[in-house]
Amino acid sequence: MTGNLDRRAFLKSAGAAALVAGASGAFAAADKPSVQPNLVIVFPDQMRGQAVGVAGEDPVVTPNLDAFAAESLYLPQAVSNYPVCSPFRAMLMTGHYPHASGVRNNCLSRTTPYNCELPRNARCWSDVLSDKGYSLGYIGKWHLDSPRPPYVDCKNNRGKDKWNEWCSPDRRHGFDFWYAYGTYDWHLNPMYWATGTPRMKPIFVNQWGPEHEADLAIKYITNAGGKYRKTGKPFALVVSMNPPHTPYTQVPARYKKAYEGKTDRQLINRANVNLKGNSSGAKLALAQIRNYFAMITGVDEQFGRIVKALADAGLEKNTIVLFTSDHGNCLGCHDQPTKNNRYEESMRIPFMIRWPGKIRPRKDDLLMSTPDIYPTLLDLMGFSNAIPKGLQGVSRGELFRTGKGARPKSQLYFWIPVAGPSGGRRGLRNHRYTLEINRQKNKPEQITLHDNVNDPFQLVNAAAKLPEAVAKMTTEMNARLKEINDPWLGGADRKA
Ligand code: CA
Repeated sequence: MTGNLDRRAFLKSAGAAALVAGASGAFAAADKPSVQPNLVIVFPDQMRGQAVGVAGEDPVVTPNLDAFAAESLYLPQAVSNYPVCSPFRAMLMTGHYPHASGVRNNCLSRTTPYNCELPRNARCWSDVLSDKGYSLGYIGKWHLDSPRPPYVDCKNNRGKDKWNEWCSPDRRHGFDFWYAYGTYDWHLNPMYWATGTPRMKPIFVNQWGPEHEADLAIKYITNAGGKYRKTGKPFALVVSMNPPHTPYTQVPARYKKAYEGKTDRQLINRANVNLKGNSSGAKLALAQIRNYFAMITGVDEQFGRIVKALADAGLEKNTIVLFTSDHGNCLGCHDQPTKNNRYEESMRIPFMIRWPGKIRPRKDDLLMSTPDIYPTLLDLMGFSNAIPKGLQGVSRGELFRTGKGARPKSQLYFWIPVAGPSGGRRGLRNHRYTLEINRQKNKPEQITLHDNVNDPFQLVNAAAKLPEAVAKMTTEMNARLKEINDPWLGGADRKA
């Protein structure tokens, strides 16, 4: 594929290098511009896979994502295998399932004693790209460090649990441009640490987070003033937006206009939100669905700006762009407030990847799992030899490129208590069923099976009616857990 950098981008980067460098010694990079593809990953937090127009499920307004999906490989069956923040992020960064990634639960002060954070010595995909000479930028939410006293003074650290922590430069895994935070949920007044910002002096901003981050991402892409990345070198940029995460009211009013004139029932079209009763789920959905969708419309607009900046800079053809999310959101489905459960609204995430001329635009029902993202990206970028040995994730690069090759038959599901890692919940999802086995203290294991074809809203536990399916799914789940050395199979812990 090499030699694909288009002429406009070449002239632009060569010219910029000449202006910045000015001396002959520095011309080597510009004379021989990168032919390696760039990578841009944009992932908002808590955006369910159903909440994109092209999915044809939620009545959400996402014109930019719909247009992007038409140019992408779109995987509507992609899931977050452990649908909560830090475990997803660690699977994404390390290519390992939670026991091997080092992050078995969210990073917060309560889990700090269990070393629940991204290990300093993990070999992340960003470490690999850094070694290959890439410039690496990270913008937005990171949430992979354990908070430690004295805690950073900010709103997310004033309750019993402390959430936010600075990421020290030696824990940034190759990202040389940094503008991020651990956890901070004031989307209209977000905070960040820039590359050289000291821990106790974070930057506070008066702008909606995704808009602020898109502004910066555009500067990074255009390399404004040559200040953001190495000229003439390929780059990888992550933009990790916090909305549509709670609190849903932290959204600019302009994005709510798209939903004016729609009734509640039109917006809440999922049969697993019980609007007839007075349930907590119905109350939550009625109160927040407009805000949730407005946030997604805002994320869509900001994503559209980033994609346009790539085209304007002549970088569209040589840049792989992935749009996804760390997990979904029930928002009242099954009376569940948010995520961290087996339901489709929690597990399914948007997943669209675009690389013009290299990945044919199409929709595919591939059962994509989170740890597979790392090896797949490196494979696509021409670095399959640099994928670390023993990585649990499997490259789907060949499937992405050609649609051919071995396909995964299922996806694992996890919920792991930090104090009892062989307990909690495990599950398996395939094109037909979702199985969950729940270990609770002093109780028999609780088994749930959803027939997602005949019962797409997962209203029924069909486990008792379909014992053969339960047995088959359990056997496959155990085999897969054995492959990744999950302590579940030891079975000692029964802690809820
Ligand atoms: Ca999250």
